[in-house]
Amino acid sequence: MIETAALLRPLTVLRCSFTHIAFSKTIANVNTVKKVHRWVNYESMLKECLVGRMAMKPALPKGMLPQSQVTDTLAKEGPSSPSYDWFQTDSLVTIVIYTKQKDINLDSVIVDHRDDSFRAETVIKDYSYLVHVALSHEIQEDFSVLVVENVGKIEIILKKKENISWKCLGHPLENHNSFIPKKDTGLFYRKCQLVSKEDVTHDTKLFCLMLPPSTHLQVPVGQHVYLKLPITGTEIVKPYTPVSDSLFSEFKEPVLPNNIYIYFLIKIYPAGFFTPELDQLQIGDYISVSNPEGNFIISQLQELEDLFLLAAGTGFTPMVKVLNYALTNIPSLRKVKLMFFNKTEDDIIWRSQLEKLAFKDKRFEVEFVLSAPAYEWSGKQGYISPALLSEFLERSSDTSRVLICLCGPTPFTEQGMKMLHDLNFSKDEIHSFTA
Ligand code: FAD
Ligand code: NAP
Repeated sequence: MIETAALLRPLTVLRCSFTHIAFSKTIANVNTVKKVHRWVNYESMLKECLVGRMAMKPALPKGMLPQSQVTDTLAKEGPSSPSYDWFQTDSLVTIVIYTKQKDINLDSVIVDHRDDSFRAETVIKDYSYLVHVALSHEIQEDFSVLVVENVGKIEIILKKKENISWKCLGHPLENHNSFIPKKDTGLFYRKCQLVSKEDVTHDTKLFCLMLPPSTHLQVPVGQHVYLKLPITGTEIVKPYTPVSDSLFSEFKEPVLPNNIYIYFLIKIYPAGFFTPELDQLQIGDYISVSNPEGNFIISQLQELEDLFLLAAGTGFTPMVKVLNYALTNIPSLRKVKLMFFNKTEDDIIWRSQLEKLAFKDKRFEVEFVLSAPAYEWSGKQGYISPALLSEFLERSSDTSRVLICLCGPTPFTEQGMKMLHDLNFSKDEIHSFTA
């Protein structure tokens, strides 16, 4: 993919972009283009494309922002508005989004192509930047997304169905080129197919959903999505936290590219409203999956030394990716301890995997606490308590950088938070997963 992008640069032939239905282009580029491709006709392109203001700007090296602009905006507190541009070769159309932010990665952009609507939502801090257009020509189903992290540039490479030149990218659709607080954007859904469903405990299952090939979506660590199903004529929506396919996923040979699958550990409540319906889905059936949400920020894990995870029941789900990410990507990490609260042994999700991981990686320890254990249980029992916590939350050194994550039934999380404050952990050292 990177090779393709590198090859594209010298071939860049035409740029046009909407800015509030404005048209901007670099004359220098077009002139160059005319020599390369005779089909580029500037006047006819203006007539047939978007109406609006025409702006001139100085020619820049392809795909680069002026240096001063990048440094200035990166230094600012809040995000400044991104912009986009596009160019084409005979067979490809590349849409480039300049976020002007450093912390951009493949999780930051969500792309959906449906019929002739093309939608790319980029999440920048608490804001959302949307490129939303009806493409002027047909494209193939699959596309690639590349991110140049150090300059915050995103390239979406579309494959043309026909090798003809596009006079414009297309027409703007709702909220095209908007940059608004994320909380003010509605949830966008795409239909995903159920590809497998496996029993994990007596009431919890691992569901695997496949994204459509025309979607690029990676759920960031610690975030959740909403699943939507029509139930008795009404669309019902509930939040769920994607997990990895196992605690050892990074050690396994990938059978298929894993970014097209989303895994969920979901407890089925027989008297529940949503989960019995979800459990009725057959392999091959479709379910709608939203864009991600959540306030966990991956930088909370940077330079961490001690990570403590307090999970009750399916409150374990956000811990899965946090645990995997921390063990794989945080070199400063000295220990990770999970205290996992359940009713009985039969309720413990992925118990043998957790025990294997503790055996394999000496930084990781797990402790199970049961509220209604069988007579033979020799481990810890009871509910979350100051006594349990103060014994468990032992720092590797007096000054170690610590994060404690909590998730479970709301009263569990609320009581846990209060206990942690009473134990003198600061707000920055605690993250609770809530709705
Ligand atoms: P509900 O209809 O909500 O019922 C749940 C239980 O409560 C049932 O036992 C039901 O009998 C009982 N109940 C319902 N109403 C009452 C009442 N009035 N009085 C007494 N009891 C009642 N769950 C997961 O399994 N996996 C996840 O990854 C996951 N992630 C989540 C992420 C977030 C951010 C949040 C907020 C929740 C998450 N959940 C997760 C929980 C999930 O969203 C649902 O709440 C859960 O699946 C139950 O949905 P339901 O409609 O089947 O059950
Ligand atoms: P559960 O089996 O009902 O409970 C798990 C353990 O927690 C049990 O030992 C239970 O004890 C104990 N517990 C329950 N209420 C408690 C309380 N008030 N104080 C102390 N301990 C308590 O759990 P579940 O059915 O899997 O439910 C998990 C919850 O996590 C759901 O409410 C779900 O919404 C939430 N969740 C949230 C997120 C998120 O990101 N926000 C993600 C996933 C799940 P007893 O049963 O013996 O009382």
